[in-house]
Amino acid sequence: MQRVAFIGLGRMGHGMAGRYLDSGFKVTVWNRSKSKAEDLIARGVQWATSPEEAAIDADAVVTMVADDRASRSVWLGNNGAARAMKAGTLAIECSTVSHAHVHELSRELRDRGLIYIDCPVTGLPEAAASGKLTLLVGADAADLERARPYLVPLATTIRHFGAVGTGTVFKLINNLLGAVQIASLAEGVAIAEQAGLDMTLVAEALATGAVASPQVIRHSKRMIARDFSGASFTAALRRKDAAYAVALAETLLPSVPVSRAALAAYDRASAIAPDDDEGSMIEIVSRPK
Ligand code: NAP
Repeated sequence: MQRVAFIGLGRMGHGMAGRYLDSGFKVTVWNRSKSKAEDLIARGVQWATSPEEAAIDADAVVTMVADDRASRSVWLGNNGAARAMKAGTLAIECSTVSHAHVHELSRELRDRGLIYIDCPVTGLPEAAASGKLTLLVGADAADLERARPYLVPLATTIRHFGAVGTGTVFKLINNLLGAVQIASLAEGVAIAEQAGLDMTLVAEALATGAVASPQVIRHSKRMIARDFSGASFTAALRRKDAAYAVALAETLLPSVPVSRAALAAYDRASAIAPDDDEGSMIEIVSRPK
């Protein structure tokens, strides 16, 4: 039986760990807060007291944590997974982390003889729990083939962009575009409200018009209804992704004013309500002057 160590049981990771269990893997998990593992333990996963303990004897270690800091800690910290991993073990990083971090982490793990797969994802927590994510992979082709049995339970689509780091480049572009769209949508919806338009008609026109991206369709309905229930992606996570994307962009382009403006909007949203749904940006832009 193939053995997976899964680290990070937040909104995304909890469902992803469950997918390995349902697909017949032997699964060991660790999360900073043990409470999020209780139902998985009841279903048959093994609990480990640290990432290092989780990684003992694993064929693959998969991580899904918040950011660079969390990623560094679970892979390379005092009780990090890398301490226990044998040469040739797969190290699959699914968290959205910065491009610089991917290169640093992959170098450190490769130096220990591990096989690093850059594997950020798109899809909401429901997709994570049902194995319908899209994986954005940066890896050597041969490494991807070795990792494929550990990726298939998570995803309906695996996109291979090229060498390590390229999956993260695409993920950061993707989420930067999301930040721009949602921040500008909040301003557009607020303008329509202040101008006294029929917001049912505005919702329908946005959802069927030329700017009707999935982000616009999803968030225009929620913004107009002021319905932010079931926050699947928080303002803090969107800000983090926009900041990583701008940091990457500034290594490649002379200036990125639109990206910077979206980051500033999410700096503000994240300072006011970090754990609220990213679409609650509408509340911030609608505040009286
Ligand atoms: P989340 O619910 O906030 O979960 C974050 C996870 O990271 C939790 O397991 C948390 O542990 C852990 N963590 C945070 N700081 C840590 C630290 N310093 N040390 C160790 N563990 C730490 O976030 P999520 O929505 O699952 O997102 C996880 C990753 O997936 C992020 O990189 C995000 O950008 C990306 N992502 C999210 C979505 C989405 O729709 N939500 C979609 C695609 C990609 P605790 O449980 O103890 O807090």
